[in-house]
Amino acid sequence: MITLEHIAAVRAQCDEVRRAGKTVALVPTMGFFHEGHLTLMRTARAAHDLVAVSLFVNPTQFGPTEDLAAYPRDPEGDTRAAANEGVDILFVPSVVEMYPRPGLTSVTVSEVAKGLCGISRPHHFGGVATVVTKLFSIVGPCTAYFGKKDFQQLVVVRRLVEDLNFPIEVVGVSTIREPDGLAMSSRNAYLVRNERQAATVLFRALSAAVERMSGGERDASRVRAVAVDLIAAEPMANLEYVEVVRADDLAPVDQLAEGVEHVIALAVRVGTTRLIDNATFTVAAGAVNADLPRLDPL
Ligand code: AMP
Repeated sequence: MITLEHIAAVRAQCDEVRRAGKTVALVPTMGFFHEGHLTLMRTARAAHDLVAVSLFVNPTQFGPTEDLAAYPRDPEGDTRAAANEGVDILFVPSVVEMYPRPGLTSVTVSEVAKGLCGISRPHHFGGVATVVTKLFSIVGPCTAYFGKKDFQQLVVVRRLVEDLNFPIEVVGVSTIREPDGLAMSSRNAYLVRNERQAATVLFRALSAAVERMSGGERDASRVRAVAVDLIAAEPMANLEYVEVVRADDLAPVDQLAEGVEHVIALAVRVGTTRLIDNATFTVAAGAVNADLPRLDPL
């Protein structure tokens, strides 16, 4: 694995590989790797000749009161972990390399970026769309891997690629979870002991909502209420939102339609840590198929 800090070097390497008729994969990250990140790298490694991972804590996707300065970092550990996964290029640009001067150009994806996390983080997806556009432009034609854990981000990126005709194939990878169901996240490092326990409420709320649908409930507001009640019962948790929406355009739904992919998505503050999670599901022939593991009772 080579670690590169400069855009020109990454571009040259990717171009050379493509000229030889080989394929390129890109895994954009903000580092502090966990099994979720490593699964993206592994999935990319299995399907492509060159795997490039970017590690960049992008300041433009953080709001002024958010955790940019505190965001966990471990450059040495990340370098070892990526090398272990057989990554070819670790791209670690400085802020100056990515933004040599304040950008006058930004990318806005409307509608799908407005609801859910877009309500409390109105500038977040603009920052994401802009930095992802820059990464696509740097790496060039490739397959890009994103986690379903950040489902709204995945939808924003898919829409960006479609609308602007990027020569990029976007692949969504299922959420990797801790044994107790908590979705892996770099931000889980902020949780102190009793908060870590309370944080399982996100998974429990999603599981209870899916359970209710499996029992035949098709009214989205009643499904939502199951999750709301569970989170209200956890004293350390503060609900930001829970919504049932269509998976392709994140439009809210009233009734769950057969054969349509939906997602139930939520954001919860546990102490001062903001956590998100979701489950995608389809109702087909009366059964609910959800992208959520069933845990064995402890
Ligand atoms: P981040 O470093 O948090 O920006 O995440 C980098 C990529 O890893 C994004 O595409 C995330 O959606 C993905 N990711 C983060 N956590 C998980 C997880 N638990 N399972 C699968 N993918 C994840």
